[in-house]
Amino acid sequence: MMGLETIYESFGISEKVLGFGKRVEDSLKGRFKDIDERAEYNQLKVIKAMQDNRVSDIHFAATTGYGYNDLGRDTLEAVFASVFRAESALVRPQLISGTHALHIALSGNLRPGDELLSPNGKPYDTLEEVIGIRESAGSLKEYGVTYRQVDLLPDGTFDFENIKKAINEKTKLMTIQRSKGYATRPSFSVDQIGELIAFAKQIKPDLICMVDNCYGEFVETKEPTEVGADMAVGSLIKNPGGGLAPIGGYIVGRKDCIDRASYRLSAPGLGKEVGASLGLNQSFFQGLFLAPTVVAGALKGAVFAANVYEKLGFSVVPNGTEERHDIIQSITFGNPEGVIAFCQGIQAAAPVDSFVTPEPWDMPGYDSPVIMAAGAFVQGSSIELSADAPIKPPYAVYFQGGLTWYHAKLGILISLQKLCDAGI
Ligand SMILES: *Cc1c(COP(=O)(O)O)cnc(C)c1O
Repeated sequence: MMGLETIYESFGISEKVLGFGKRVEDSLKGRFKDIDERAEYNQLKVIKAMQDNRVSDIHFAATTGYGYNDLGRDTLEAVFASVFRAESALVRPQLISGTHALHIALSGNLRPGDELLSPNGKPYDTLEEVIGIRESAGSLKEYGVTYRQVDLLPDGTFDFENIKKAINEKTKLMTIQRSKGYATRPSFSVDQIGELIAFAKQIKPDLICMVDNCYGEFVETKEPTEVGADMAVGSLIKNPGGGLAPIGGYIVGRKDCIDRASYRLSAPGLGKEVGASLGLNQSFFQGLFLAPTVVAGALKGAVFAANVYEKLGFSVVPNGTEERHDIIQSITFGNPEGVIAFCQGIQAAAPVDSFVTPEPWDMPGYDSPVIMAAGAFVQGSSIELSADAPIKPPYAVYFQGGLTWYHAKLGILISLQKLCDAGI
């Protein structure tokens, strides 16, 4: 422990807060061991995929223009397909975010007259305009795709009976959201998703089952494409980019589904054959290589935060002992001061922009002021340590990421110190 207390002290962390953190950490050895074992498995899975696809340094070369014969891009996609045990993959800097990747997967595979089904209630906020749940120019609704949703049961599980009723001759695609995102329901395990897909395909074998995999990658040792999902979709500035991808999204799954998505991303007839990688391939490969351990660090931070704040009497989701299915942690403070102090603590721990003090502001599209803490190398990257909260009851903060466990730990300890200093 040589000097450890002293260096924590240089961040303003008191002996009391540090001691409390240490007792919580000591109680989590078993949990951390499980997280490490999963990371070890996933690390080997990624290395095996890279070896099987003969990744070589020629794959890091930049292409420009049309990007014909971009060997690096094609090999990266083969590696993603292997990691996700899928037939094909689209992994591109031209997929500019998770929302964009989801939009391409949906609009590439749905046609006028088709119906889209969400079996987990309202999907992630940004998809509302993609689908047309909120009126929006260019939505699927404008293209004649109808939408139906089945809400979750009060205990947060799938309502199989009503899902069965909702599937009709028009239902073409079911979109399942693995992570709760910023909702209050539980996140789903890969096995729960598999069960739902098996159930739905019994009713309609040709139903395309897509999973919004954001925040879920590498949390378990299996991905949704291993339990029947026809497509899984996510962002490279979350888990699978390992913090190194500066942009990008992915769609993995059945070859015909990926091909249709690719015709939507580029153009009919062009598909996957074009799209220069602009020198980003090395970051994508290396980020994927690091992703399993990065996700493990983020998970340790989430479990640590849950236990720290649960012991102090705050309500936390997931709770301190629950199995994890994504990297998001929510903590309910019940008052604006708690939320603000927490976010300011996360910011103060950042390697970038630690000197700024986040304040609540009226962000476009939100009905209450929002506070956000992020000191990230990549703008908006939420695999990096970040926290955000709407300033409204129940005054809950959503916290995620951390490229290393030590950084996540520092952020949580500083946040706790700020709360103590503010007398909360
Ligand atoms: C982050 C997220 C998205 C959207 O991703 P962006 O990259 O922010 O557009 C979609 N679904 C879920 C569950 C997410 O967590």
